[in-house]
Amino acid sequence: MAVIVWLRNCYRLSDMTILHEAVKKQLPVVPVVILNAKSNWPLGGASKWWLHHSLDAFSSDLEKIGSKLIVQQGQPVDVLLKLASQVDASALFYNHCYEPEERDIETRVEAALHPVLSVQGFHTNVLVPPSQISNQHGKPYQVFTPFWKNLLKTTTIAPPLPPVEWLPSPDNWPESIPLKSFNLLPQKPNWAVKFPEYWQPGEWGALEKLNAFLSDPVQHYDINRDFPGKTGTSGISAHLHFGEISPRQLWHAVFSCKSAFNHATDATFSALTQDAKRYLSEIGWRDFGYQLLFHFPETPEKPLRAQFEKFPWKVNASHLKQWQSGETGYPIVDAGMRQLWQTGWMHNRVRMIVASFLVKHLLQPWQDGAAWFWDTLVDADLASNTLGWQWAGGCGADAAPYFRIFNPILQSRKFDPMGTYIRQWVPEVAKLPDHKIHAPWEATPALLRAAGIGLNKTYPPPIVEHQWARNRALEAFNIVKT
Ligand code: FAD
Repeated sequence: MAVIVWLRNCYRLSDMTILHEAVKKQLPVVPVVILNAKSNWPLGGASKWWLHHSLDAFSSDLEKIGSKLIVQQGQPVDVLLKLASQVDASALFYNHCYEPEERDIETRVEAALHPVLSVQGFHTNVLVPPSQISNQHGKPYQVFTPFWKNLLKTTTIAPPLPPVEWLPSPDNWPESIPLKSFNLLPQKPNWAVKFPEYWQPGEWGALEKLNAFLSDPVQHYDINRDFPGKTGTSGISAHLHFGEISPRQLWHAVFSCKSAFNHATDATFSALTQDAKRYLSEIGWRDFGYQLLFHFPETPEKPLRAQFEKFPWKVNASHLKQWQSGETGYPIVDAGMRQLWQTGWMHNRVRMIVASFLVKHLLQPWQDGAAWFWDTLVDADLASNTLGWQWAGGCGADAAPYFRIFNPILQSRKFDPMGTYIRQWVPEVAKLPDHKIHAPWEATPALLRAAGIGLNKTYPPPIVEHQWARNRALEAFNIVKT
C-alpha cells in the first residue's frame, strides 16, 4: 500500500501540508508530477525553462530526504489510475489549482479515483481559498480594497509548517521519465542564456530572494517599488508561481522581521510599517487575481466588462512586432520589453507602462500582449497576467478608467528620473543627458550627434506620436463607454 502525492506548481519541502498529511498515513509516499497534458494554455518558453530547473532542484531535495520525484506524462486521470494500481495506493493527496482547466481536471480525477481510493485536495499556494472571501451579498469582490479589508478582518494566516525531513519510500519505485526528454529547455538559439544570471529556480533560490529582500529593501518598499532602476521589490513572483515558497511563509517571514514594525510591542497587521503592509497587500493582489479567475473563468480570453468585446482594435502585426522587440522609439517601453526578453521578468511599474502603451497608444488587443507575456515571463501566471492586462485595458476588475492613459514620457521622467533603467536596457540612447533620455526625438540634432544617435539608424523614432495616439484612444474608448 502507498500514498500518492500529485503535485502541480508546488515544488518545495517547507510548508507542505500535503506531504505532512501523507506521512501521517504511515505508508510509503510516492510524489508524482505529470507533464505534457493537453492544454489550451500550454506553458510558454520562459515558464518551461523555469519548470525544468525547478523540478530538477525539487527532485534532488527529495532525494536528500530519502525519496524520489516520479515524472510521468499524459492525461492525469489515466496516469493516476495506472499509478494507483501499480503502487497499490490507498490515498491520493493533491494541491488545488485555480485555472479553469486545472479545476476541470481535478473534478475528473476525483470522479475517477474516488471509488478506488481516498482523494483529498489542499489549498497550499494562496493566503485563502478563492471561494472563501465574498461580499455581503455573497458575490465575489471586483475591487481590491474591500476584498483585502475583508480578508484581513476574517482570516488568520496559519503559521507555515516546518520542512519535511523524511519520506517513507516504497520497496519498488514506479518508472519515472527523465526530465531531459521533455525538452523544456530552449534549443538553438538559446534565448535563455542570461537567465541563470538572474534566477535560481527552486526552494533555495526562493529563500535567498526572500532573505535578501528582508535584509533591507522591505524597509523602503512602499516608495522604491515603483522605481525600476532600484532593487526595490522582492523578485519572488516566479518562485511563488511554481510553489517553491508559499504566501504564508512570506507572510510570517515579514511578521518575524523586526524592521517590519514601527514598535516591536505588538505583532499585529496594524503595527506593521507602511512598507511591510504594502508588501503583504501585493501578496493579497495575487490572491485577488485567483479569486477573480475562480469566479470568472472566461476572463483569460474575454473582458470582464462585456461592453469591451466590441472595442474597435486596430490590429497591426508590425506594431505588435515592434513592441515585442523593444523597437517602439519610446525608451521606457523598449527598456521594459528588452528586460523581459533577456531576463524573463519585467518590473511591475514598467509592465503597467508597456501594457498601457500596447493597448491604448497602439490599440492592439490586450489578449495579444497577454499572450506575449505568457510566452516570455518566467512568472507567467494565468490569474495575475489576466488581472494585469485587463487592468491596463480598462476592461477588468479594479481597472484603470478608460480615459486614464499613461503618458510614457511622464511615467519615464517620474519613475526613472536619472535614466538608470533605460541606460541598462537601451544602450543606444545611454549617452543622452538625463532630461532628454526619456524622449530622444526632442533632443537637438547636435545633441543626438554628440550622443551617437541617428534616429531611424541607431534607434527608431517614436512609433506613434503621443498626443495623436492619446486622442485616437479616447475616441475608441468612447465607443465602449456605455
Ligand atoms: P513584489 O513587488 O516583490 O511583490 C511580491 C509579490 O506580490 C509578487 O511576487 C507577486 O506574487 C505579488 N504581486 C505583486 N504585484 C502584483 C499584482 N499587480 N498582481 C498580482 N500579484 C502581484 N505577476 C505574476 O506573478 N505573473 C504574471 O503573469 C503577471 N503578469 C502581469 C501583467 C501585467 C500587464 C501587469 C501590470 C502585472 C502583472 N503581474 C504578474 C503582477 C506584477 O507585475 C508581478 O507580480 C511583479 O512584478 C513581480 O515582481 P516581484 O516579485 O518583485 O513583486
